[in-house]
Amino acid sequence: MDNQARILIIEDEAAIRKLLEIVLQSSQFETLVASTAQEGRIMAASHQPDLVLLDLGLPDDDGQHLLASLREWYRQPVIILSARSAESEVVQALDNGANDYLTKPFRTGELLARIRSALRLANPDVVNEPVKNYGHLSIDFSARVVKRNGAVIKLTSTEYALLALFARNEGKVLTHHFILREVWGPGYVERTEYPRVFVGQLRKKIEENPNRPALIVTESGIGYRFAG
Ligand code: CA
Repeated sequence: MDNQARILIIEDEAAIRKLLEIVLQSSQFETLVASTAQEGRIMAASHQPDLVLLDLGLPDDDGQHLLASLREWYRQPVIILSARSAESEVVQALDNGANDYLTKPFRTGELLARIRSALRLANPDVVNEPVKNYGHLSIDFSARVVKRNGAVIKLTSTEYALLALFARNEGKVLTHHFILREVWGPGYVERTEYPRVFVGQLRKKIEENPNRPALIVTESGIGYRFAG
């Protein structure tokens, strides 16, 4: 199923663009290509790809800026490809709504694994009850809408994935390792800083008092538990 997905490659280096096309097509993905941010923006809007591979260093616009503008309407996974490896760039891209991040040079096997994982996360398991309430917080799983005291709150796709994971496992202690594997993928289990950073962001948005969290409770040295 995943392999019939249509992937838009936004990359200005012709050699890398060609490599990506060959790798993806050999795994039965359909590919679309763009070599500038402007072209990428138009291709995304006109072809509605299932996933976008986005280079951050583009000739006409910063990839971070393109990502932010795509995220104003585009809900499917975006995986960043970049020569940049600074942690702040990673956090910024994830914060801007990227699902994943690969630093060049990347291994093609890893790229394919990340793409499959991102596509899987974009189509999460069906939850029996479409809307669940947790005190002041409500989550509409069918519409992917979260409300706090009745008002819609804006979550990045990663924040939503994390909250949905917690909500699906209400009452259970989830380890850092489990959270990393479920939300970011098997290649990320050593990125122990991700849960701390994203739980912190999520708490600011969903908790009545982020300094004394009641929904997402820290299990010291182990992980977190969604108290609901
Ligand atoms: Ca580039």
